[in-house]
Amino acid sequence: MIPVQGYAGHKVAVLGLGRSGLATAAALKAGGAEPLLWDDSPESRARAEAAGWACHDLTREGAFAGVSALITSPGIPHLYPQPNNVIAKAMEEGIPVDNDIGLFFRSWATADWDDFETAPRSVCVTGSNGKSTTTALIHHILRHAGRPTQMAGNIGRGVLDIDPAEDGEVVVLELSSYQTDLARALTPDVAVFTNLSPDHLDRHGGMGGYFAAKRRLFAEGGPDRAVIGVDEKEGVYLANQIATSREDDRVIRISAARKLGDYGWSVFARKGFLAEWRKGRQVASIDLREVTGLPGAHNHQNACAAYAACRSLGLAPRLIEEALRSFEGLPHRSQTVAEKRGVRYVNDSKATNVDSAEKALQAFRNIRWIAGGLGKEGGVASLRPHLEHVKKAYFIGHSGRDFALELAGLEHEICETMERAVARAAAEAEAGDTVLLAPAAASFDQYPNFEKRGDHFAELVAALPE
Ligand code: ADP
Repeated sequence: MIPVQGYAGHKVAVLGLGRSGLATAAALKAGGAEPLLWDDSPESRARAEAAGWACHDLTREGAFAGVSALITSPGIPHLYPQPNNVIAKAMEEGIPVDNDIGLFFRSWATADWDDFETAPRSVCVTGSNGKSTTTALIHHILRHAGRPTQMAGNIGRGVLDIDPAEDGEVVVLELSSYQTDLARALTPDVAVFTNLSPDHLDRHGGMGGYFAAKRRLFAEGGPDRAVIGVDEKEGVYLANQIATSREDDRVIRISAARKLGDYGWSVFARKGFLAEWRKGRQVASIDLREVTGLPGAHNHQNACAAYAACRSLGLAPRLIEEALRSFEGLPHRSQTVAEKRGVRYVNDSKATNVDSAEKALQAFRNIRWIAGGLGKEGGVASLRPHLEHVKKAYFIGHSGRDFALELAGLEHEICETMERAVARAAAEAEAGDTVLLAPAAASFDQYPNFEKRGDHFAELVAALPE
């Protein structure tokens, strides 16, 4: 745990009692503050009370008397579409609103660091897609290289829940736009921006607000090194704003779409090869085509981002290459779960929307595609141009029939359930085919979450004959 500095003897309100909220409360207490906990949901309050915490009603009159700050959870709106009532009240009363990321950056460095040979460093990853994969990959590479490292943030572990830094440690944090938007201190040593596509627009008042939230990671006086995906105009703009010249190697531009030779520093992937260029010449190249844990151009973008971040931490290209080869991928994201009778089975249950399903459909050939679930607004018709590698679709769930109608002309079968879809796809697959679960839909019609859906797929595949 990282004890929170700067609030000893102060009352600090904590709104939202999920995993990060409870970790925040414990870290505040460890730093000598008095946390006042609240959650609008009675179930969350009951869970906190069961864990030994007392709750204080932050909605009542005078609740903020003598309170120094309000720390909120990322899932709670603080501005758009409407601020949560407790947050609105705190702002009205002039109480600074912050989150666990802000507390982390004001608390992480301690006096012990003066005796360290190598100062600990932080790498923060943001972007619309690929954050978790890139974060996990950076962490994996650092571990492979023998560097002390911990991983936290949006990827599962609360940032204040990690252990105090060791000599030379690198902490890798995945940060969502909600987290970067509110943090009052945000000072990564290396900041990574993977890509940008519309998401969570209601919470940010539109695309401009969404981009502005992510950009805060690169604010003035920002990171020593900025790794920026320039495949969208926002990334091009951000890189331009930070770099003082074309040669400035504080910015590492990355692309999964085009050659970027002529900058101070760049890393790009084309036709399955990653290339690093520095000061006008190529310094390294890696064949990504056989890296099974990172299939497809979208994952090559993640590989470029992780490679660049690790290079900026001083790791050698060959060491990074070895680590890329041993990366198994994250569960439920283009994850190969089995290879049976020459057929590959891939679990991309995290492809809950059309955008991520499209990336998966481009990453494989001879696809037997399992899709459907609870479809999202806008439908799946926009996938039509991306079906050239699909041999046949096996539709499941609530929206299965709608998908079949919207993608008329595609050979398909309405299977309803995952059991039937896996059985039918396996029965019809030939050596060289890929059975791909990339639902382009939420899971909630048949499963509690996308993880359970992916696990079910993997279990059914495991039970198929070898
Ligand atoms: P995030 O943490 O940003 O949601 P993940 O790594 O969990 O990203 O991946 C989420 C989904 O997006 C998965 O279906 C994955 O296959 C797909 N994906 C991963 N990396 C990228 C990328 N660079 N661009 C587009 N889609 C991606």
